[in-house]
Amino acid sequence: MDRIQLTLDEVRSLATAVFRHHGVSQRQTDAVVDTVTAAERDGCVSHGLFRVPGYIASVASGKVTPDAEPDITDLAPAVVKVDGKNGFAPLALEVGRQPLVRKAKSQGIAALAVTNSYHFAALWPETEALAEAGLVAFAFVSSRSFVAPAGGIKPLYGTNPMSFAWPRDGRPPVVFDQASSASARGEIKIHQREGIPLPDGWGIDSDGNPSNDPKAILGGAQLPFGGHKGAGIALMVELLAGALIGDVFSFEATAADNDDGGPTSGGELIIAIEPLLCVDSSGGPTQLAHAEELFAQILAQDGTRLPSDRRYAARALTPTEGIRIPASLYRELLGLAGGSAH
Ligand code: NDP
Repeated sequence: MDRIQLTLDEVRSLATAVFRHHGVSQRQTDAVVDTVTAAERDGCVSHGLFRVPGYIASVASGKVTPDAEPDITDLAPAVVKVDGKNGFAPLALEVGRQPLVRKAKSQGIAALAVTNSYHFAALWPETEALAEAGLVAFAFVSSRSFVAPAGGIKPLYGTNPMSFAWPRDGRPPVVFDQASSASARGEIKIHQREGIPLPDGWGIDSDGNPSNDPKAILGGAQLPFGGHKGAGIALMVELLAGALIGDVFSFEATAADNDDGGPTSGGELIIAIEPLLCVDSSGGPTQLAHAEELFAQILAQDGTRLPSDRRYAARALTPTEGIRIPASLYRELLGLAGGSAH
């Protein structure tokens, strides 16, 4: 496949040109482009430039409000809510981050409920930023009905990711960020675009038969990871990012969506914990030092690594090596930018 090499500055300029050409406000653009550029920087291709045409489709169809200004409400001493006002999620998340940090540091634990916004990204940018501020963090997002419940064959749950981050002294946080489906949907689309069959267990066709064909699974249903166990996580995410914070379930988001190929409207719940307020000062090892002992035990075994190490390794290389995207995607983005980019 023909590929084009770009620097991270070129990624940022290209994505910015596309969003601005479609009338997306500078604030909304900057927040989304930050997540797109970070995904490319960390080698998370399925949430980088690949997503930009979908974001733009949702603006062009009139579904997303391109100049939305999120609205913040203090719901309780430990709960803050940000209404995304029908805009993209990254700006709503940015607006809620510092209030959440302040509340978690004073209350010990706090929650940020983001509603009425369009999430199309990875969750690690949310949790990693909180762990960089010294907090333990969780994030949960539902999406649209793609995944069959355990034993069923029809899509009901979203791919419903959750992320967890743990702060470290003098090192980047340990972060995991995973769909509750066997794979993220973007991965299936990338396999389809590149003509590569899928691994076993990712999904079933519309008759419920196991399949390795991306097209058959996109028209059938994805499967939860680990059978009923992943389905339990998917159920939890629906409840936390939907019912708990007054937003929709994936099947409701699907029903309300105009199928423009962009993100669906929904909620996100983020929980942050201040470790310093979780123990009394008994004189034992600090929690962070204690955690390092676990990480060392993991890494003492051949073949292991910590979640997020792959991203950090990619992050270290991209400033010098740049990234490579399919030439067809590059041409599409140039067209969406009105012909000019960097
Ligand atoms: P992966 O299965 O690729 O990875 C899941 C996690 O496991 C990552 O944190 C990864 O770290 C870690 N990991 C992978 N291999 C190892 C290993 N050998 N040892 C230790 N840790 C490991 O992710 P998914 O395909 O499930 O999800 C991809 C992305 O899609 C996520 O960012 C998710 O948020 C996003 N998503 C977004 C949705 C939305 O609607 N917004 C919907 C669904 C998914 P590392 O990154 O370092 O490889």
